[in-house]
Amino acid sequence: MSRWVELDVTPRRILLASTPVGPLGSGIGGGVELTLHNLVYGLGLQGHHVEVVAPAGSLHVGERVHQVKGALQVSSQTQARDAPIEMPSGSVLAAMWSTVSDIQDQFDAVINLAYDWLPLYLTPFMRVPVLHLVSMGSLNDVMDSALADVELELSGRLAAHSMAQANTFPDPAMFRIVGNGIVTERYDLQTRPDAEAALGFVGRISPEKGLEDVAELSARTGRVVRVWGMMQDEAYWHRVAIDHPDARLDYRGFLPTDELQAEIGRCAALVMTPKWVEAFGNVAIEAMATGVPVLTYDRGGPAEIVVDGVTGFVVPADDVDALADAVERIDQIDRAMCRQRVDAEYSSLAMADRVVTWVDEVVDASNAVVDA
Ligand code: UDP
Repeated sequence: MSRWVELDVTPRRILLASTPVGPLGSGIGGGVELTLHNLVYGLGLQGHHVEVVAPAGSLHVGERVHQVKGALQVSSQTQARDAPIEMPSGSVLAAMWSTVSDIQDQFDAVINLAYDWLPLYLTPFMRVPVLHLVSMGSLNDVMDSALADVELELSGRLAAHSMAQANTFPDPAMFRIVGNGIVTERYDLQTRPDAEAALGFVGRISPEKGLEDVAELSARTGRVVRVWGMMQDEAYWHRVAIDHPDARLDYRGFLPTDELQAEIGRCAALVMTPKWVEAFGNVAIEAMATGVPVLTYDRGGPAEIVVDGVTGFVVPADDVDALADAVERIDQIDRAMCRQRVDAEYSSLAMADRVVTWVDEVVDASNAVVDA
């Protein structure tokens, strides 16, 4: 029996270029790692041939991962708006794009998932169309102009995960909005929380995630908050703990997806308190896939994902009182409905459909130019 879903699509050969901040599976790449896994899976299910270029030490995904050695790139969210582009000596990013360039002719298109200047700069010089799925909002002037240059020269090559993310850039219209998706089969619906009915927080332990507000919420409501995520900024974690002595935060480490989903599913709700414009917020759809409602600030992608009163509650940004009020209303949310929304909008196949439509348009437009 074929493992492919029979769909009316032209099979494409697609090369995915991962983030140079860390190997796949390390967690350093944040949501980009999950996005990549999901794309490999969804595109593969549709019968497309997918290979990946990623830093050495990456987990194996898809048909082939080209493992590239080199010095890792520093994450962009730690850089100032006017900072110049930094390249470490022996850069893995440069080496990854040498590999992309060497093997490009084996593919119909390259999808870049890295939030970096170099792939944008190289785009017009490549023989095969390069598309960019941008993973963060506007953070840096050099990146903003590199993105604008790609749009100017090769319109249609840029996509964002949410409208809120696109709106952080000077010209939001240059992005196609593709949302995101997860391998829903890996998530089990849990129809009720466990006896403790704890809240959950999932994300890198880093100031842009606003963990201090979650600590404040815990102190006010007396609820335990179970925390999962990569410990990116330990000093920040200690500061939050010291500033909120009454908070009941229970740090549970960074877990692989299969374990994480089982643990989140036992929570009463997931809390998202981003201080930056979260481009999407994968953890929102992951929690919803296990039946867990999401309480979020009205800021960034999570506020577009959560249907207020149906799959959770959207409260004014930075308003911990409103969050505490939402905690009181969690039981109004039907956990099965949370899962249903993910199956309908955020499955791998739904995401693959959106991405393939985009790839088809770009490839057809490039062929038209070549034929002309
Ligand atoms: N994550 C994980 N294990 C953990 C905590 C988080 O695998 O213990 C993953 C989570 O599944 C999600 C990613 O880390 O895919 C965080 O992505 P998100 O889009 O929420 O935020 P980002 O880190 O990209 O800002």
